[in-house]
Amino acid sequence: MQRIDHSLPWSTLGTERTLSVFRFGEGGRKAYIQASLHADELPGMRTAWELKKRLTQLEEQGLLNGVIELVPVANPIGLGQLLQGNHQGRFEYGSGKNFNRDFTELSEPVAERLAGKLGDDAHANVKLIRQAMVDVLDQLPPAGSELAGMQRVLLSHACTADIVLDLHCDTDASLHMYALPQHWPQWRSLSAHLGVSVGLLAEDSGGSSFDEACSLPWLRLAKQFADAQIPLACMSTTLELGGQTNTGKADAEAYAEGILAFLAEHGLISGEWPQPAFEACEGMPFEGTEMIYAPHAGVLTFLRPAGAWVEPGEPLFEVIDPLNDRATTVCAGTAGVLFAIEKLRYAQPGYWMAKVAGRTPLRTGRLLSD
Ligand SMILES: [Zn+2]
Repeated sequence: MQRIDHSLPWSTLGTERTLSVFRFGEGGRKAYIQASLHADELPGMRTAWELKKRLTQLEEQGLLNGVIELVPVANPIGLGQLLQGNHQGRFEYGSGKNFNRDFTELSEPVAERLAGKLGDDAHANVKLIRQAMVDVLDQLPPAGSELAGMQRVLLSHACTADIVLDLHCDTDASLHMYALPQHWPQWRSLSAHLGVSVGLLAEDSGGSSFDEACSLPWLRLAKQFADAQIPLACMSTTLELGGQTNTGKADAEAYAEGILAFLAEHGLISGEWPQPAFEACEGMPFEGTEMIYAPHAGVLTFLRPAGAWVEPGEPLFEVIDPLNDRATTVCAGTAGVLFAIEKLRYAQPGYWMAKVAGRTPLRTGRLLSD
């Protein structure tokens, strides 16, 4: 194992933050796994600890057939954002920016560099494109903030990988994952190893999140250079490992083993690995996810747990205003998987209270909420 420490720019005077990447194995193929980019989403960090121990063993046993890079603490900035006992790891305090938005869009600068150089040889194209991505990131002007510097380091490690797993979680949720629809057939096996409840599929959710910053440039380049052979060479997913309190040992061990078994299926690890413990879940259009809001302020009572299948008209939660004797029951508008519910039990305006993944597209435009 090799430890690579990157110093982040623009630390407060007298302090310095470090982003650490742990690299296991060697070879031409590569997987990249990072945890807790939203720093208050800790199931991924707990799972990364199990992965780190197992990868160390597997490397010692000579069972790694490629490179696996692990970033157990992807966001040291957000990890320090505690205020009077509450962790706020989603938005940077200083700028208000979501840590998982606005990653550098690589297809445009890569296309400029490679116009006229891409041909029929898919393997050669992948090599050229990855090198161009690395060069583009290397040659950007110095990062203007600690956040920009951190995002650049993360993307520079991930953009050359064949498989990228960005480990997040939702508030109170069943396991779910986001990916390009074109990659869903390959992701089904990971869903079956981990017991994922639904795959949310979109070509461009808007916002340049980390997973799409890794996978989407390939789709854009393939469309732009339609005559060249450009495969979608980076399978990337945001994997939501349940809810924020889901940091138990048994679950973390099971998630790590499932991830390793999946990497073994892709040839990155040798040895005997178990078959998936679950059925693969359904992949649904992310446009079909219904975001459900409360009609007024009040205390919430959820009537169905995260992970349940719900039908249209089925009651999901009550909002109770005890001052004005107003109690409203809010129902699902679509059939699908109730994959996340709000953790805070107080209804606020503008914040979703529940999300249901359905099969029928309902939304257009920017699909990600902030
Ligand atoms: Zn997240």
